[in-house]
Amino acid sequence: RLDERTREIVKATVPVLAEHGEAITTHFYKRMLTERPELKNYFNMTHQKDGKQPRALANAVYAAASHIDDLSAIAPAAETIAEKHVSLNIRPEHYPIIGEYLLKAIKEVLGDAVDEEVIDAWELAYGEIADLFISIEDGKYKASAWTGYRLFTIHKKVKESEEITSFYLKPEDGGSLPSYRPGQYIGIKADIPDYPHTQRRQYSLSDAPGKDYLRISVKREGGTEEIPAGLVSTWLHDQVQEGDVVPISAPAGDFYLNESTSRPVVLLSGGVGLTPLMSMYKKTRDERDVYFIHAARNGGVHGLKEEMDGEQTYVIYETPSEEDKTLAAYDKAGYVDLDWLRNVVPKEADFYFCGPEGFMRAMNGALHEWGIPDEQVNYEFFGPKGTL
Ligand code: FAD
Repeated sequence: RLDERTREIVKATVPVLAEHGEAITTHFYKRMLTERPELKNYFNMTHQKDGKQPRALANAVYAAASHIDDLSAIAPAAETIAEKHVSLNIRPEHYPIIGEYLLKAIKEVLGDAVDEEVIDAWELAYGEIADLFISIEDGKYKASAWTGYRLFTIHKKVKESEEITSFYLKPEDGGSLPSYRPGQYIGIKADIPDYPHTQRRQYSLSDAPGKDYLRISVKREGGTEEIPAGLVSTWLHDQVQEGDVVPISAPAGDFYLNESTSRPVVLLSGGVGLTPLMSMYKKTRDERDVYFIHAARNGGVHGLKEEMDGEQTYVIYETPSEEDKTLAAYDKAGYVDLDWLRNVVPKEADFYFCGPEGFMRAMNGALHEWGIPDEQVNYEFFGPKGTL
């Protein structure tokens, strides 16, 4: 355990580091990925460009450091991050490399504003935080259905909408499949032809457990004139075919259906955020009082439509097409808002939501305004862990 002086120094300097947080982590990534290019095989190289990954790392380190007296305060956040690390196959030997470059970046960005004593204190604090993650992740690797990657064959590829395609995965070794908690995801290791680095992404399992396949449903991130298309999703859509083999990490994630209560369940999804909720829906629709509300831009991009076939399902299209109108394929045009929600679903329920960040922020705001207790509100980010 760190001595009191070290902890005092770390806590006192958190605000200084946090103020320069993004500068430090941007610098850190740049130098580390230049000097240790093999690590490009572990990081999402697109998130380096848009700044999300540096921001997420900065927030995590400073949150941990500000609780250095009692790291149990960061347990829920550590849990989410550790699950992601396991799905990315992050190992103990990676932590000292991150630590080395983080300290170098702190020194380089803050210069004379920090002395040797401060740097030494941060080195010790980083070591303590790293040890915590290593030990949580060690437990998870031991409990995991398999460690690292297992090869899966694309058994079936099914177009679900203009943008979403499902992939049915079966183990190449013919062995059995683990169960998983509805809401969890797998990791995929993508070696894309002509792209210089291995890329890893997570995809939520979109069917109920207990089948002889794992199913993921992937949205094509097509890009625009200014923004390049997403790497892995377009590779899956355009290049990966039935019969191909892909390395998959075991189901992981701490966003899953709480099966220890019998409260009603309210599922709220936006766009491709419906995948983990579809798994929950299918698992629990016959057992509990379940409400499934899905928001999409229009019927053309609404995937897995036929699977939302229960009575308490509601479809909201932002801008319904003429065909949607003719088919009366939706329950509401526009957005999900609190006035509508409180007329449709019970308040004494467990709420789960997932979707684009704007949708998630709106749902979080509505549920708080309604007075839903935090422990009944659950959500998943389809990107680096952010804040709502
Ligand atoms: P990336 O290459 O990572 O690009 C991401 C986005 O940035 C794209 O929209 C791209 O167009 C844009 N972009 C590219 N270059 C730039 C640039 N220079 N500046 C700004 N923007 C840029 N996705 C699903 O479809 N289905 C799921 O079920 C699902 N589940 C997930 C579960 C979890 C827990 C997480 C964390 C994510 C999940 N995702 C899911 C998202 C998925 O992991 C990928 O992030 C997604 O497929 C995009 O990856 P990509 O490689 O195609 O895009």
